[in-house]
Amino acid sequence: MPDLTPLDIAVSRARGTCAITWSDRSEQVIALTDLRRLCPCSLCSDQRDKSAANPLTVISGPEPSAQLLGVERVGGYAIRFQWADGHSSGIYTYEFLHALGAAPPNGAA
Ligand SMILES: [Zn+2]
Repeated sequence: MPDLTPLDIAVSRARGTCAITWSDRSEQVIALTDLRRLCPCSLCSDQRDKSAANPLTVISGPEPSAQLLGVERVGGYAIRFQWADGHSSGIYTYEFLHALGAAPPNGAA
């Protein structure tokens, strides 16, 4: 079992955020666009690796959707987000999600 589990997950479509209240009572707000950009599934990781290797890679197709259709818990250790474009293969572990909150906002160092 992970040390931290979400007590509450609140998605605001209006604000485009996902707010998680953790079992230590800390609250974390993650932008849906960040969640989608950091999708941990193999497809998206591949895509990120490719564009990291070659900054000129043209990603075909429209921008990935950051619209959420739904959120579901997976096996007591992760959350799966269902995006409006049908993508839902990313399993976001609690550890992964919590680590996102530790990053400085907007990637500023
Ligand atoms: Zn993905």
